[in-house]
Amino acid sequence: MDGIRTDSLHLFKTDSLTEDTELKVETFDITPLFELRLTAGKGFGLFATQAIPRGTCIVEEPALITIPASVSQNDPERAIHIIQALGPLSRDQLDPYTGLHYNIRSVNSFLRAAIRTYLISKQYTGDALKAAVKVHTTMAAIFNTDCVAMGEDGKLGSGIFQHFSRANHSCTPNVENCFNTITGCEMLHTVRDIDEGEEITVTYIDQLYRPADERQHALRRWEFECECEACEGPKAMASVRRRRRVEEIHRVFDRVEGKSSSWFWQPVRMPRSATEKIQLAEELVMLLREEGLVGMPLAQAYRRCSKYGLEAGQGLKSLEYARSAVEVEQTSIGTVMKLPENAEAWLRLLEEMAGSGDRRFRAERERMRLESERVRKMEEKEAARQAERIELERKSEEKQRIEALPEGKRRKEVMKTAVKKGRRVVRASAERSGLAAVDVDRCLAGLGGEETLAWAEKLQGVTAVSEFRKALDEQPRNGHRANGSGF
Ligand SMILES: [Zn+2]
Repeated sequence: MDGIRTDSLHLFKTDSLTEDTELKVETFDITPLFELRLTAGKGFGLFATQAIPRGTCIVEEPALITIPASVSQNDPERAIHIIQALGPLSRDQLDPYTGLHYNIRSVNSFLRAAIRTYLISKQYTGDALKAAVKVHTTMAAIFNTDCVAMGEDGKLGSGIFQHFSRANHSCTPNVENCFNTITGCEMLHTVRDIDEGEEITVTYIDQLYRPADERQHALRRWEFECECEACEGPKAMASVRRRRRVEEIHRVFDRVEGKSSSWFWQPVRMPRSATEKIQLAEELVMLLREEGLVGMPLAQAYRRCSKYGLEAGQGLKSLEYARSAVEVEQTSIGTVMKLPENAEAWLRLLEEMAGSGDRRFRAERERMRLESERVRKMEEKEAARQAERIELERKSEEKQRIEALPEGKRRKEVMKTAVKKGRRVVRASAERSGLAAVDVDRCLAGLGGEETLAWAEKLQGVTAVSEFRKALDEQPRNGHRANGSGF
């Protein structure tokens, strides 16, 4: 019985796989981050048992079974591949497999016939054959319903995964999957913070930007109606508008980048300049963020912003967007697995260009330098104007205050202000003449009010120390000559 172990066959031989499944759920492997729970209407799902921050790798697991990429969905040989792949599984590994949801219609009559022929060749007859066909058809249906493409475009075949295959669908998934070709493991990373008790969701379909009814059509294979916020409820209308626009922008970029021929039948308004392209890419980023599609689609949108930023000659802006692309990409798929055209490689390339003085960076840097210079000067001017205004106000208030004083006091105040000003003039002259600060202080220390005014008048405009000294010598001071005062 190559490919089928007797004990696993015994497990398969149950009339009601569903009942069996429900019993097994109790023993299903539970990680510290999430657990399996029964949901209303979607069967089982994965639920966070604690708050999980964005960018956490919550699953890294090898496939339970795989089949090669060369075997298509309707190839009769596929059934044999599935049966043989299931053979080596232990009971513990089979439990999560048989517990998966399946659509029996995913196994067509050719596959059923192939299963029957295979079992007959393994000496099955009568009731045993009937039962075995039923069980193996179910096994094939589980695979066809829940298998996941591995590697880029499914080049590495398809597989069933213990945890990943358990996750339910949402049109705004909170987890991104990525097959690590180095370790042969499927990885799941959270693309946003997940609350405790929140369901962990992936997407089953590529058509996330199509209208809700088209998405529902694509999901029929799994026999359920999606009830996520993008499909139902008060937010669905806005979601439809945003996703329609996202698809439109993608179509434009596909045409700009020569990736698709869809524009032959769907006219699009093409951007006329690099600036328009970057605006479009920026709109894409905004829409995806609003829509909560913040995994790899957002990383790719940032990448486009960066690409067209460079094309528009805005090297530094391009660099900034490239950094955002790296951040989102590494949050979505981790840092171990490098995509062929990964965001980090693009960032390195830009950094090299910036370092080597590429004109797009040089010109922009110069433009930004001039701009910041202009802003700085404007700010300085404004600050000076402000200071002047404050000073004028202060002076005017002071004047009003003095004017309001009685005659005697006012005269005193006027004198006090004049002396203050006089001292400032003397100090300025002394400093201009090159007199040491300590000498200036000593000179000013002994001055009376009237004297200060007279000195100030005499010393105004003096710039040489000799002149200053001469002036001091000539000036009688409190009955002495200033000469002897030690300068
Ligand atoms: Zn939905």
